[in-house]
Amino acid sequence: MKEQLLQSPVFHMAATQFERVADFLELGEEIRERCKWPKRLITVTMPVRMDDGRTEVFFGHRVQHHLSRGPVKGGLRYHPSVDLGEVAALAMWMNWKCALMRLPYGGAKGGIACNPRAMSDGEKERLTRRFAMEMLPFIGEEVDVMAPDMGTDEQTMAWIVDVYSTYAGHLVPGIVTGKPLELQGSAGRKAATGHGVAFLASRALNKLGIQAPGATAVIQGFGNVGYYTAETMSGYGIKVNGISDVTGAIWNDGGLEIRALHNHVLETGGVAGFGEAEAIDPGALLMQECDVLVPAAVERVITKDNASGLRCRVLAEAANGPTTPEADAIIEERGDIYLIPDVLCNAGGVTVSYFEWVQNLQRFQWDEREVLTKLETMLEGAFERFQQYVRAEKVSHRMAALFLGIQEVARVKQVRGLFP
Ligand code: NAD
Repeated sequence: MKEQLLQSPVFHMAATQFERVADFLELGEEIRERCKWPKRLITVTMPVRMDDGRTEVFFGHRVQHHLSRGPVKGGLRYHPSVDLGEVAALAMWMNWKCALMRLPYGGAKGGIACNPRAMSDGEKERLTRRFAMEMLPFIGEEVDVMAPDMGTDEQTMAWIVDVYSTYAGHLVPGIVTGKPLELQGSAGRKAATGHGVAFLASRALNKLGIQAPGATAVIQGFGNVGYYTAETMSGYGIKVNGISDVTGAIWNDGGLEIRALHNHVLETGGVAGFGEAEAIDPGALLMQECDVLVPAAVERVITKDNASGLRCRVLAEAANGPTTPEADAIIEERGDIYLIPDVLCNAGGVTVSYFEWVQNLQRFQWDEREVLTKLETMLEGAFERFQQYVRAEKVSHRMAALFLGIQEVARVKQVRGLFP
């Protein structure tokens, strides 16, 4: 199994990052192995009746990296490229992220290999309900709490609440986060990840002495995270010149009108063809001059082939794992890009998920202002700890963010000892 996981390029990348930090921390072999490998890897097959009468069998995975610090927490992804290695890597990153943010969670991730863009709502509902049923023995408010990720949304979470609650015999809203408000979702959750990305990008600009109003940004991905990042940045006066998604990339020198673009995407399914912009090559988009570059789509898009050509001042990693270790080395060597590593940059999502879970357990609701204020306070705290660590230890931004998370997990493993 170890070898199988390491053959996955995404898991290999997460494991390489982990080993670098473990070496730096001089972690002993025993703690190192316990921190690195996931506790539970669950793979299920799901036969689903499709609209045309066929039965299609889908593969789904849930990886619970470790349960030492509390229930595991992490998104559920629907994408054709999903495999066990990718899910295990994403679970590992969730781990360090929760620990970095000092949330009482371990990390997890789930995914189903499917193309949600080519499926009807009915097919997605049947697939989700079947997955939730298969997961019943492995999840729970105190065990594993899912959330939306790429290709899934509030509706997906609502179906999971329904399946779990039907089996429990009563409503269990805390079984997932990122659910609709009608089912005791949290105000501010939908916007949380993007809001956090924009907030931290503005803090990084501030450190570089660049004013947010009038600064420029380019965003790859215009789903939940990309949209709310763009929306919040616009609110700060940052001009978002370029945006891409699976349908193409667009550019406007004067800044894109984000709400109008969002409406266009709701109507047509993608950013391509937006009237108030010109088309641009999606690869070239990443190389445009800007103050903030935000990869907010998939993994491994900043590579050794394009890292030296980036022309941004801040690289805000909204997506998980967008930068390969080879590209990291180039960015470190260049020294002119302020990297906000993924485990910090997109932590707004899991932080507000935590708030949602706490509200559910207490049967209490906070308003959006309270949620976003608490979020900014927690992000500011993590950002300051990260900055201090970079200054004190003179390490790269990637190392500092991972160090703060991994050290926390290693300490808990150490103090809990070995069972039996
Ligand atoms: P989403 O499905 O809502 O949107 C994904 C977007 O990326 C879509 O616009 C899609 O068209 C685009 N995309 C996909 N492949 C692309 C490519 N090759 N080039 C350009 N665009 C591409 O997903 P999301 O929830 O916005 O998640 C995006 C990223 O953020 C993922 O890496 C996810 O793990 C991470 N993330 C999400 C959350 C969350 O709260 N949703 C939290 C933390 C991290």
